[in-house]
Amino acid sequence: MPVSGAAGPVTRYTDGVERTNLGSNNYLGLTTDPRVAEGARAALERYGTGASGSRLLNGTSQLHLALEAELADFYGVEAAVVTSSGFTANLALLSAVGGPGDAVLVDAHAHASLQAGAAASRAQVLRWRHNDVDSLRSRLERVDPAAGVVVVTDGVYSMQGETAPLADLAAVCAQAGARLVVDEAHGIGVLGATGRGAAEAAGVLAAVDAVTITMSKSLGSCGGAVLTTAALAEGLRTRAVPYVFAAANVPASVGASLAALRVLRAEPERPARVRSLGELLRRELARAGVPVLAGQGAVVAVPVGDDEQVLRAWRAVFAAGVYVNAAVHPAVPRGQGVLRLSVMSTHTEEQLERAVAVVAAALRDTAAPGPAAGPVPAAAERPLVVQLPPDAVPARTPLVLPAQHGPAAAGTRAGAPPGRA
Ligand code: PMP
Repeated sequence: MPVSGAAGPVTRYTDGVERTNLGSNNYLGLTTDPRVAEGARAALERYGTGASGSRLLNGTSQLHLALEAELADFYGVEAAVVTSSGFTANLALLSAVGGPGDAVLVDAHAHASLQAGAAASRAQVLRWRHNDVDSLRSRLERVDPAAGVVVVTDGVYSMQGETAPLADLAAVCAQAGARLVVDEAHGIGVLGATGRGAAEAAGVLAAVDAVTITMSKSLGSCGGAVLTTAALAEGLRTRAVPYVFAAANVPASVGASLAALRVLRAEPERPARVRSLGELLRRELARAGVPVLAGQGAVVAVPVGDDEQVLRAWRAVFAAGVYVNAAVHPAVPRGQGVLRLSVMSTHTEEQLERAVAVVAAALRDTAAPGPAAGPVPAAAERPLVVQLPPDAVPARTPLVLPAQHGPAAAGTRAGAPPGRA
């Protein structure tokens, strides 16, 4: 549902209606913070609108280097490699880190970018059952003892909000001599005493060999980074294809990220407030009789079930003035759709309490299969394809996705790309 204004606690949508927004990753509310906006503005004025090249050639500015130095300092690691998105950070790291004879072991529900990175690796790729440490152990037993092994997990899962069992994963990796990679996209700015994420909260940050982050959530901007050793960082700068062959992120986004990082470091009360609002939302939903999945961060998932039911509930919530995200397959396993609610440190308690009443009523009203509750928002009715006038229809067969992505695959997992949205 497109917005027509900044994503704040109350956001204007393209139908002109302002709704309470519980569907944004702007966890710290920094996308409209004046200090962050000033960081973007100053970078724009000094460096212009674009980076004009890849990080490796001419696209690296002093600002990229300053952001890398501050991120490395924040995480207490030797180096940070800033990439143009969080997706690219995962793709760059995992596609480059393993070679033939090595093994990359990925949680079955890990983010799509981690799955894509593993798929691009020349190493053997194995998946273990989601958040199941015994399953990881049994996969590790299958790996050639001579292989270099990398174990990959999200810190906080993006759609269902649960955290990885990082203390156990770190212990298993230590025992097996495996390296551990943790994606802190939804952990940075939210979990841990200083907001460094789930690994900090679990007390195992020092045992993580590479942390990946995105600037597109708590840091209110765009871009990603890999935080690791100087040696691995140097390797990525010349060998990671998405770093070498994609344009650097634009100066305004780097300036905004740097300013947001400074706000995060100076104001640890922001992550603390996100956590306490997340707790409040979980508690109040449960009190209103709404089931909630376990979690500790900004993401609060309400399990609903099949896709149709999720969409009915979503429409009812939307019609009642609250925006949440409908997470359906393949963002979540088939039949395990959720309403994904997320808090910002700038929400008020009253906004969350009102939203709880709306979600509870919507779930009650849409529990049984039936006609869609409330009006379908106009934007959802827009056709998904561009309608060409008849004389513009090309004679050639149009480029299409492989058949397994079409309806033929309905009811199976076979055609779904692995990973979460
Ligand atoms: N990792 C996770 C867990 C995510 O949820 C996301 C964003 N959905 C990413 C990586 C990718 O980050 P970005 O949006 O910056 O590409």
